[in-house]
Amino acid sequence: MKIYNTLSRTKEEFVPIEEGKVRMYVCGPTVYNYIHIGNARPMIVFDTVRRYLEYAGYEVNFVSNFTDVDDKIIKKAIEEGTSAEEVSQRFIKECKQDMEDMNVLPATTHPLATLEIQGMIDMISTLIEKGYAYVVSDGTVYYRTRKFAEYGKLSHKNLDDLEAGHRSIGVVGDEKEDDFDFVLWKPKKEGEPYWESPWCEGRPGWHIECSVMSKRYLGDEIDIHAGGEDLIFPHHENEIAQSEAANGVTFSRYWMHNGFLNIDNKKMSKSLGNFFTVREIGEKYDLQVLRFFMLQAHYRSPLNFSAELMEAAKNGLERIRTAAANLAYLQENAKVSDMTEAESTLVKESQSYVEKFKAAMEDDFNTADAISAVFELVKFCNQHASEESSKAFVAALYETMEQLCNVLGIIIASEQEMLDSEIEEMIEARQQARKNKDFAKADEIRDALLAKGILLEDTREGVKWKRA
Ligand code: AMP
Ligand code: ZN
Repeated sequence: MKIYNTLSRTKEEFVPIEEGKVRMYVCGPTVYNYIHIGNARPMIVFDTVRRYLEYAGYEVNFVSNFTDVDDKIIKKAIEEGTSAEEVSQRFIKECKQDMEDMNVLPATTHPLATLEIQGMIDMISTLIEKGYAYVVSDGTVYYRTRKFAEYGKLSHKNLDDLEAGHRSIGVVGDEKEDDFDFVLWKPKKEGEPYWESPWCEGRPGWHIECSVMSKRYLGDEIDIHAGGEDLIFPHHENEIAQSEAANGVTFSRYWMHNGFLNIDNKKMSKSLGNFFTVREIGEKYDLQVLRFFMLQAHYRSPLNFSAELMEAAKNGLERIRTAAANLAYLQENAKVSDMTEAESTLVKESQSYVEKFKAAMEDDFNTADAISAVFELVKFCNQHASEESSKAFVAALYETMEQLCNVLGIIIASEQEMLDSEIEEMIEARQQARKNKDFAKADEIRDALLAKGILLEDTREGVKWKRA
């Protein structure tokens, strides 16, 4: 499997630190508003990366944070006359709702910055002890950027080149040793949330939270760190400087970045007013259409959002769903149950589309080509499945289509198509997985049921289920 690594600017063979396991961290949103469709892109893209890694047999520990302390959250709280905590809790809940509607799997852990302050204080203390950070008279702690010799290795910038551009911004603080030194801890302002620390009552800078949460939930070294391309500099560059100076080992082996989502070929921005929230799009479209639209592009390319392109995505998705519904119908009404020899040859032939799909995904998660393979499979199914087909044949085709769409997070089955007996079979498989202590598999089955609108409840009398 090849992954384009921003560090080397090349596609590299993926070799995990621990065989069969992937430790992955994706920078999450700052929660002061509903997420917009730009924020949705990394969610959808890296959820698909995760789904493919799991399909390929890896156990993925997927961590994605919520930044729940930040100037924008505090500003919003002041405007509304409420607390920063109330604002962030509200929008975390809304964000999780949007994620569910886009069929983005919940992370293994969704840490919150405000619950990880002690870890941040510990890491900042280590950086001070090692000479990578210093405290000034008001209690602000800065990172001593020039001390980290490899600073710039991710963004392929060097500090001296950057200096010319940066100076003109004129952000040198009085006691800051250097322009490029960035804040690790800052003193509180009146009315802001704050925490005790050895340096002052205050709050952390933004970059330190990801270094700390990644260390806590995934360890000092991780496989993949990801986010939008705007995070390469300075956020991810600063995370590397913090983590590698504090821990003394490589922070992340692979760095993945998604391209930006534009609207009508213009940069989407709040100040221009040309952005849509996921919620707004959800009022006009099934959010599966948004997901499908995003995956039709390569994740590293810029992507333009427009009504026409959404309509095209809607039609494409419809084509797949119609084929799936047709297969489901044929399966239910088949007159013969067993596969003929000719059919079994066709089933083997259909596997070539699976191979094509996998080859596309193994090549730096080329979902655009993977979707083309799904369309070819659709065409194949439409050509070869008919009322004369056997139940087993149609079922095999359906299963293949469903498997590939599942990797993309695209749901092809409608709720009604899931029979009670199928649900009970899956619940039984989940119980078995739990007995075998294969909790990842058990969770996977629960999530798969949830994606089909089936809610499980573990009670003393056993597992109960209901349709959402
Ligand atoms: P933020 O809440 O601004 O920190 O953003 C959360 C995530 O969304 C980060 O990974 C950003 O890089 C990403 N992001 C923000 N705007 C866009 C956009 N227009 N297109 C793609 N990704 C974006
Ligand atoms: Zn981050």
